[in-house]
Amino acid sequence: MQYDVVIVGAGLSGLSCALTLQKQKLSFIVLESGERPGGRIQTDLKDGFQLDHGFQVLQTGYPEAGRMLEIQDLNLQRFPAGVAIRYNGRFHIIADPRHHPRYILSTLASPIGTLKDRLAMLRLARSVCQGPLSEIFTRPETQTIDFLRQQGFSQGFIQRFFVPFFAGTCLDPSITASSRVLQYIFRMFSQGDAALPTKGMGDIPRQLAAKLPTEAIHFNSKVAKVDGGIVTLTDGSQIHGRRVVLATSLAAIEQLLGLPASLSSLGESCLYFASAWRPPFREPFLVLNGDGQGPVNNIAFPSLVAPHYSTSGKTLIAAVVLGQSYLNSENLEQQVRSQCIDWFGNAVQDWDHIQTYHIKHALPEQTPPTANPYVLPKPVSEKVRICGEYQSLPGIQWALLSGRQTAEVLVTELC
Ligand SMILES: Cc1cc2nc3c(=O)[nH]c(=O)nc-3n(C[C@H](O)[C@H](O)[C@H](O)COP(=O)(O)OP(=O)(O)OC[C@H]3O[C@@H](n4cnc5c(N)ncnc54)[C@H](O)[C@@H]3O)c2cc1C
Repeated sequence: MQYDVVIVGAGLSGLSCALTLQKQKLSFIVLESGERPGGRIQTDLKDGFQLDHGFQVLQTGYPEAGRMLEIQDLNLQRFPAGVAIRYNGRFHIIADPRHHPRYILSTLASPIGTLKDRLAMLRLARSVCQGPLSEIFTRPETQTIDFLRQQGFSQGFIQRFFVPFFAGTCLDPSITASSRVLQYIFRMFSQGDAALPTKGMGDIPRQLAAKLPTEAIHFNSKVAKVDGGIVTLTDGSQIHGRRVVLATSLAAIEQLLGLPASLSSLGESCLYFASAWRPPFREPFLVLNGDGQGPVNNIAFPSLVAPHYSTSGKTLIAAVVLGQSYLNSENLEQQVRSQCIDWFGNAVQDWDHIQTYHIKHALPEQTPPTANPYVLPKPVSEKVRICGEYQSLPGIQWALLSGRQTAEVLVTELC
């Protein structure tokens, strides 16, 4: 059987590519090694809890989400616009006064930063929202840590706020990721909210896949080799395409094409706990580790943002630990619990440990020079193209965009 396009991978980039081809009436098949769509975005159901594979959020400001998703059907539940920073034995709430006027005083009086830092924040927020989003990716690029110093932020504020905040989003505690990425993320937080779909992050790929005919996605179909338009599966069967799109992680692409591994993967462990306990703040702010001590970078309370995450009414707690070094740590749960006892008190002893996800490749490193995500990578060969994070950037916005843009190029080539 020959298709116009064979897509390898049913993550967001592969699904977005397939949906765009479908609109243009090109024939295609999606080959997915796993048993469900979504790739790195999955939600498991366990003991009455929705457990996302690693703490992730959908930013309501992602332009491509507005374009590709039926946002209203996801029934998004928004995080409050602020964070609780654990620093020097206390939690300090830093909140957007437009949404949380009651925290104006605590925000202004917090020891997290100086007046100069607050003014630099306002300047940064204004600058990242100027012009079209794509313009950010043409700005001069440097490592975020250097960029923040150039912007006049104090070392204390960088350590207490930017390190845990940016590390949480880019999984990069050294904050050496590109200053363009920082500006893009800051713009998303300034112009929208972080949100969770009511039925979990896995509802995003589920919604996209549901728009495709069931026979268009072949699950448990691992591709072993791609040779021009001939795709060979691990069971030896072959599928032919006028074009082939590799919509997998960079590591999988390198393996398929027999290229040397170039990827620096950033990993994380996400430990889920449940308890009748409630956090000591009225809103379910994301908690950031401003002390830099202990394994936990941030803690979220998904069920207090999106109640469907817990059917029992218990609080679901997601503790995120960054880095590969913890992936094989035997007593990680105990280390995390000890840190949480220090932060929240002895009630943490009674938290039930529900599940731990160790994710080896969550994101690639995003140190400069990074690719402009609006520019598609050159085709690998006449018939093979790549989409997803390869020569682009990781994230929901970019996976959806690269899938759509790749399909649009194929439409012009094949129609
Ligand atoms: C813990 C974590 C937190 C994150 N947080 C956020 C966040 O808050 N906001 C945000 O925007 N982004 C976040 N991301 C990033 C975002 O989830 C990814 O960038 C995006 O989902 C990648 O989609 P993709 O389609 O490019 O790749 P993938 O999701 O990796 O999909 C690739 C697919 O290809 C399949 N595949 C691989 N090899 C083969 C093969 N040989 N044959 C057939 N199929 C194959 C895989 O099974 C997979 O389904 C996070 C990611 C993780 C893991």
